[in-house]
Amino acid sequence: MGYMHKVFLSGTGIYGCSNCGTHLAFKDKVSSKSYTGQYGTAYLVDEVTNVRAGEAEKRNMTTGAHIVRDIVCMECNRYLGWTYVTAFTSDQKFKEGKFILERSLICDRSRNWD
Ligand SMILES: [Zn+2]
Repeated sequence: MGYMHKVFLSGTGIYGCSNCGTHLAFKDKVSSKSYTGQYGTAYLVDEVTNVRAGEAEKRNMTTGAHIVRDIVCMECNRYLGWTYVTAFTSDQKFKEGKFILERSLICDRSRNWD
């Protein structure tokens, strides 16, 4: 995918990669905290930065089939969640273009938990 510039977010509420601290998203871009990922609680986020997306694949989820791409931290390559490419039912279409971040794999950069 070539070289990508790492983006530093500034503000009071920021989530970062729990492994390397790379900034990923503003807290106010989280639209739901009631999702479930591979490792438990996951957040639905409107915008995520500093990630690389993998190959698109069809996956069957509790809410139906979706085309998704896993996302990894562009700094340390660790899995963080996925992004929705296509949803097949109209009530799930709002998720297209949005991201899932696994709660256990991100940290609160504004409070320096790490
Ligand atoms: Zn990382």
